[in-house]
Formats: sequence, C-alpha cells, structure tokens
Amino acid sequence: MLSILPEYIDIGEKMKKYFFLIICFFLITGCSEQKKSEGIDTIIEEEKNILIGINYPVTTISKLDQTIQKDVEEIYHDFKKEYENFDDIEEQSELNIDYTYEIVNDRYINITLHIFINSSKLANPNDYMKSYVFDQKQNRFLTIHDLIEEKDFTKFVGLLKTALFQKYKDCILLDEVKATITEQYDYPLFTFDHETLTIYFNPAQIAASYCDILKIEIPLKELQLKLPIEPEVQIDTTVKLFTPNKIIDPERKVVALTFDDGPSKYTNEILEILKENDASATFFVIGNKVEIYKDTMQKMVSYGNEIGNHSYNHKWLTKLTEADLKEQIEKTQEIIQSTTGFTPTLIRPTYGSISQKLRKQLSLDIVMWTVDTSDWKYKSVDRIVKEATEKTKDLDIILMHDTHKRTVDALKKIIPTLQKQGFEFVTVSELKEIEQLRKYTKEF
Ligand code: ZN
Repeated sequence: MLSILPEYIDIGEKMKKYFFLIICFFLITGCSEQKKSEGIDTIIEEEKNILIGINYPVTTISKLDQTIQKDVEEIYHDFKKEYENFDDIEEQSELNIDYTYEIVNDRYINITLHIFINSSKLANPNDYMKSYVFDQKQNRFLTIHDLIEEKDFTKFVGLLKTALFQKYKDCILLDEVKATITEQYDYPLFTFDHETLTIYFNPAQIAASYCDILKIEIPLKELQLKLPIEPEVQIDTTVKLFTPNKIIDPERKVVALTFDDGPSKYTNEILEILKENDASATFFVIGNKVEIYKDTMQKMVSYGNEIGNHSYNHKWLTKLTEADLKEQIEKTQEIIQSTTGFTPTLIRPTYGSISQKLRKQLSLDIVMWTVDTSDWKYKSVDRIVKEATEKTKDLDIILMHDTHKRTVDALKKIIPTLQKQGFEFVTVSELKEIEQLRKYTKEF
C-alpha cells in the first residue's frame, strides 16, 4: 500500500525571497463498486449539560430506514428528556450511538446499533445494542425463527447455553440463563453471515449489569438454516496512481478551513466547490463512516485536501480508558490508510474537549481552531458566512462541519469573500509549515 509523501524543498533553499511548497501526492484510487448503504446520518450536539454523538446508516430501503430512524429518535429524545436539565458542574452527560453495517449478499442486510449513555446520574455507563436483520426479497425483518428450523431449535439452545457457560461463566446469572435461554424465547438480538450466526444479550439481561454486551458465535455448520445463503461474491478491485502537484506562495495570507464529523452526503459537493476555487481544506473524519464514503474519501485526497483523525465513533475522548482511546484512534488511522493511502498526522478531539492526560496519550498533533463558525448551531447561511469571514486573519483555522446543507451553501460565499481579501486556502499541515518557514526566514 502506497502512502502520501509530502516532499518539501530543502531547508537551505528557504533563504530565497519566495518559497514554494511542492507537495506530491501518490494515491491509490479504487474502482470497486460494492453495494453499500446510501450514507450515514450524523447528529453531533454539544449543549450545557449534554454531549450527543450519533451515527447511523441510511439505506435505500424505506422500511428498514424508517424503523432505525424511529428507534434513534426515541433514544435521542429520551436521553434529552432525562439529561438536558440535569446540571452536574463536574461533567456533562453523554449519548453515543455507533453502528455496524454488513451486507451478507444481495438479499440480506445486518445492522446493529450500539448505544452508550454515561452520566454521573448512573452507577455504571448504560451500554446496550439493537439489531436489524433485513430480507430485501421479502421486504421484512427476519426473526430467529425465520433462520433456524424447528427441529434444530433444541440443538441451538443447547449450543448457546454451552457457549455462554464457557465464555461468560464469571458474568452470567444462572437463574436468568435458565429462565431465558429456552425454546420459547425469541432471541431478538442476532446477526448472521455465510459462516456464523451471532447471538447477543444486553447487559443485565442474563448477566450482571456491569458486564459488557454478551456475544456468542455459532458456526453455521452446526445448524441447518432455513434461508438460502449464496456464497460471498468476490469483488474485483483495480488501482491506479494519482499525482497532483501543489504550489503555495508562503508570503501570501493563508487560512485553513477545517471540516469535522464527516464524511457525509454533503462532503462530495464541498470537495467540488473547493476544487473549482483552487482551495484545499482539512477534513477531520469519523472512522466508522470512511468505508461507506470510500469514493468521497479518495476524491478528498486526490484533490489535495488533508485528512485528520476525529475518532472512530465520536465518543467523548477524555472519558475513555487508555485501551479504548487507543482503539478509537488506531481503528480510524487504519481505515483512512487502507481506504485512501493517506496517513493522518493530525487529530481534533471530539467536542473540542482536551485534558492534560489526553494530551499526553495522543501521539498525533492536536489541532483546535481560532475561528468558530458555529455552523452546527446557526441555521442561517448568512450568519455562518459572517462568522467565517468578518474577523478572519492570516494563519487562522476555521471550524466548520461537512454534515449540514447550510455549510455547503455558506462555503460558496465564504471562499470568494476571503479570496477577495487576499487569502489562500491551505490545509492545516501546509499552514503549520508556512508558519515555521516564516519564523525560520525571519531569523536570518
Ligand atoms: Zn465532532
């Protein structure tokens, strides 16, 4: 896998009056066409008492979308009702919804939602999931009884019990297991693929409330499924190299546009606007959306933009254990690298929230902002334009979010307005490089 290699001119050359940064990009662009969801809907909100980070898939299947959307809205409103006015000076309450999305084949889709609620109101964080197995051919959700033959059900219950005792003996509550794991129970939480049927149990269902979500994988060779599962289709991928060059005059006024919480269905239009105006930006992306917007991500890099890390699912980073934090960062680095060939060197902490401890734990360069457009809050395009352009000065970093239509509309005005004022739009790394370069030349 090739990576992006910025090649700056030799430091000795920097004594000259004009300096140009020549940045060469090598990018692998894939041409694979895997059937993916239409996109990911994102809700990021930050209020006095609450932090909300939600990502969930939107397919083209209305029945599936409506059900998931209804569930997400219910969780969102219940959380707001419960915690919006719960004022704890020490810390905000947090809601995070993450997802998995898996296409088994042309017919079946598995989606899971992972809901995480943390608040000083709770003894332990509330961590649970929902699952949706959809049959596109029949246009309906599947239950476990659609999958397992009646004659196999006793065997299924036996396999499940054995696996639970083996894997979770320190966690499960015996009486609850006996009462629940029966032939009558519906097992609402499950997913399946070509090889495995996976059954889940939420904490406190059959285990102690402090336990994680229970997950048991049953090999399909042990069970005869009712529904046909065709073999997995192998996807052909062809790759080619893309190498644009970029020349920046470091004596001009520069500004860095940054977009958080994407990619989304609006990101592609933003990329085209930037390109038309010969502008670059930096996108702090959420890892769990990268694969679904693969084409957008590749375009992002090939147009000369920079990608930064904004965690895997927008959890509140300062609250995480070291291991969980590491996972959030590394999973995001890996997915960006494997999708675009680009390795981020920058991170923007979620909710702009940073502690001394987090600062020490992060190996990537932390990038905040100097101009906040509050585009997530202001509904008016003109207001966002005003926030972005009125007080902006040389070397400023502007915060925006590529998850709103109004941000796209505002951008169409922000770029020409600032260009008229003599600004050039560069990425954050380019801005930092120019800053260094100017300091260096001043010294001589
Ligand atoms: Zn964010």
